[in-house]
Amino acid sequence: MKAHVQSEKLTLTLTLTLTLTLTLTLTLTLTLTTNAINVFGWEKGVIVYHISKQHEALQRINLLLIEKAGKTHYTWIKDLNRLLHDQSKYEGRKSFCDRCLHGYTNEALLEKHKPLCRGIGQTAVRVEMPEEGKNKLTFQNHHRQLPAPYIIYADFEALTTKFEGPELDPDQSNTQQTHHHEACSWCYIKVRCDGLTEAPVEYRGPDAAEHLLRALEEEERMIKKVPAKPQDMLMNCEDTEAHRSATTCHVCDGPLNGDSVRDHCHITGKYRGAAHSACNLKLRLSPKTTIIPVVFHNLRG
Ligand SMILES: [Zn+2]
Ligand SMILES: [Zn+2]
Repeated sequence: MKAHVQSEKLTLTLTLTLTLTLTLTLTLTLTLTTNAINVFGWEKGVIVYHISKQHEALQRINLLLIEKAGKTHYTWIKDLNRLLHDQSKYEGRKSFCDRCLHGYTNEALLEKHKPLCRGIGQTAVRVEMPEEGKNKLTFQNHHRQLPAPYIIYADFEALTTKFEGPELDPDQSNTQQTHHHEACSWCYIKVRCDGLTEAPVEYRGPDAAEHLLRALEEEERMIKKVPAKPQDMLMNCEDTEAHRSATTCHVCDGPLNGDSVRDHCHITGKYRGAAHSACNLKLRLSPKTTIIPVVFHNLRG
């Protein structure tokens, strides 16, 4: 259910008609115009639908939007504190924030809280604690603990030529360009997750930056083919013994309880440990999500 407050302008008209014996009719009309209206709802307790963004100093009119048999209507909340207090188990006096509905035992604490409670876009917020039994989070993304299958370390060299540009205008900038750096060569080395390296790839010549990007794209294409052809598992006597005696999953640390498979690295073939079959599947490499870090200058300079 959503409350739509089209306009915060509300006119309350109170008409009091007194008919006296002298057929004198007195009509008193009181018109009150305000532009600070809060709208609350009810779902097992008070909830916030709309909080006026008007200045705090403006007196608020609090309305409760009630839905019954598909029909909705507004009711005036005479005393919001009282309504909220009825829901709380606290016996003493409490002042409530109309934004997050949190109660404070004294007014000073509430006043201190109010500026902090104006969230992004001054939207109403209310902290809802998770239910018992759904209040524990455990780390699930075990695949993110895996090292990148390959990492590329690269470096550029550049020729510096004197910059032939316009004279520095001190009114515009204090930075004087003196030399132009043009990439003239590069070299990179690809390192597998177990440290195995291939021969460095080098280039010297024109359009060095473009050549490097082309070479890296080709590396990416080759690396992303690897998960499709996983290496066969390599197990030595120690691995076999470790697997036989394993009682916990090496991925999630949970007890195996008979659900045990041999987990191995699809890049190197190395046995990693005993794992639950579900945990083992989570570690499967995907060409789409495989990241290949390229590190320049050892991440310095
Ligand atoms: Zn609050
Ligand atoms: Zn597990």
